[in-house]
Amino acid sequence: MRLRALKRDLIQSNGDLEARIIIRIATGMDEIAQIINAEKELPEEAVEKAMQLSKERLAGTPMAYIMGEKEFYGLPFKVSRDVLIPRPDTESLVDVAVRLASSFAKPRILDLCTGSGAVGTAIACTLSLPVALSDISPAALAIASENYERNTGKKPDARLGSLFEPWKGAVFDIIATNPPYLTDAWYGETDKDVKQEPSLALIGGGDDGLDIIRQIIHQASGYLAKDGALAIECDFRQIESCGRIFRNEGFSSIAVEKDAAGKERVIYGRRLS
Ligand code: GLN
Repeated sequence: MRLRALKRDLIQSNGDLEARIIIRIATGMDEIAQIINAEKELPEEAVEKAMQLSKERLAGTPMAYIMGEKEFYGLPFKVSRDVLIPRPDTESLVDVAVRLASSFAKPRILDLCTGSGAVGTAIACTLSLPVALSDISPAALAIASENYERNTGKKPDARLGSLFEPWKGAVFDIIATNPPYLTDAWYGETDKDVKQEPSLALIGGGDDGLDIIRQIIHQASGYLAKDGALAIECDFRQIESCGRIFRNEGFSSIAVEKDAAGKERVIYGRRLS
C-alpha cells in the first residue's frame, strides 16, 4: 500500500492529526518525510501496525497510550496502561510544591502516589533538587523511575508500598500527592477514554472519594518536619471537606490553589508543631 492511500484511509477514520501521528509511530516518518514519501510503497508490517493503532484508538484507547508518551510541565513522560495519564490540571500541584519549597534551604521532598512520576519529576527538574517517589504499583513505580531518570539524569529514591509504608523513619519538608480521589459515582460518569486508565489510580474509596486522602492527611504529620507542608490534589467539590480534615488533624496555614480551568484543585497546609 502506498503511504498516500494509507493516509487517506486513516484521515477518514481517525481525523487528520491522529492519522499523521499514527503514521509517524508505524513508519518512523515525521511529517516532512510523510510528504516527501507520499508515493512510496510501505512495508506490510508498517501498514498493519498503523491499522492496528487506528483500531485501538477508535475503540477508545487514549492517544497518550497509543503514543506511549505525554507532555507534562514542559517535559516528556513515558506512559502505559499501568499509569494515569498526567493531566494539565495537576500542574497546579507542581506550582504549589515549588512555591512551598522556596521557604526551605534544601527541602526534602516526597511525591506520594507518584504514578508516572510526573509530579515528582517536574518538581525535581524545576528546583534541581532530588525528589523521593513512591507508589503501591510496581509497574507504575518502574515507569516513574524511568521518567525521573530520563528527565533529571539521576536515579530517584523510589520505593514501593502503600502510602507511607515504605517511608518509616523518613522526614520530609514537603509532601506533594495526587492520590486517587474520584467517588464511585464520578468514576461511573467519566468517559470511555478515562475508563481505560487504571481505576486503582482514580477511585478514592468511601462515599465522598476521600478515604485515601483521609489516611494521607492523618499519617502525614509523622513524616513531616516542623513547618513541613502537605499539598494534595483533589476535586473542587472536595476542597471544603479536605480543609476540615486538614484542620482536624492539626494543620495550619491552609490554602487552596486553582487549576488552569479556574477550579479549586489543590489544598495545602503546614504541620505546626
Ligand atoms: N483528575 C482526574 C480525573 O478526573 C482524577 C485524578 C485522580 O483521581 N487522582 O480523571
